[in-house]
Amino acid sequence: MSVDIKTYLELKQEFEQKHVQLVVVSKTQSVEDIKILYDEGQRDFGENYVQELVTKQPELPADIRWHFIGHLQTNKVKYIAPFIHLIQSVDSASLLQEINKQAVKNQRKINFLIECKIGSEQTKTGIFKDDLPNLIDKIPQFTNVHWQGFMGIGSFTSDKNITHQEFAALSGIRNQYASVHNNIFSLGMSGDYKIALEYNSNMVRIGSLLFGARTN
Ligand SMILES: *Cc1c(COP(=O)(O)O)cnc(C)c1O
Repeated sequence: MSVDIKTYLELKQEFEQKHVQLVVVSKTQSVEDIKILYDEGQRDFGENYVQELVTKQPELPADIRWHFIGHLQTNKVKYIAPFIHLIQSVDSASLLQEINKQAVKNQRKINFLIECKIGSEQTKTGIFKDDLPNLIDKIPQFTNVHWQGFMGIGSFTSDKNITHQEFAALSGIRNQYASVHNNIFSLGMSGDYKIALEYNSNMVRIGSLLFGARTN
């Protein structure tokens, strides 16, 4: 597997023009391939698995901003707490409580997004819309976390109508709660980022467009 640098440079330019932040999803990719994009100027990378992330992180430059985008188990927060830039997948108060605890231990503030459940079948992660107010109400009691916005994962489908419906729903939630302090809207992957931009996504997470389809 290798990196498609031409596509990277095109996407980078497109997203810069649109003031959209590109997070390169590097799960299952080698440190060598990550380094190639680092050398092109990329600093934001997203990973799904704690074990993989903590193995790669020390082997790569320290100024990489690591985003955690996968399902995060409470007992693994401690491994990424010293260095993680943005945890995009917070979907419960108990997870947030643990992130805060580990942030205090590390004497830092940890940024996070709330992941909302928008897809139907395969997206097991994310919080239900009805449970959101309860989670949001609890945020002020946590001193060392910083809520920056919302993340969503669309259903894996070729039916654009479904994607539009899901993104419209999440955009509605975001508009209801977002403010200047939590303005990040992380929406869109290789297959659906163009639609996400129609719903004012300002952070996209792109993997397979750059690295080719993953085999695992
Ligand atoms: C794997 C993954 C991506 C990237 O998906 P591609 O289709 O490879 O661009 C984005 N977001 C999340 C949460 C992922 O797990």
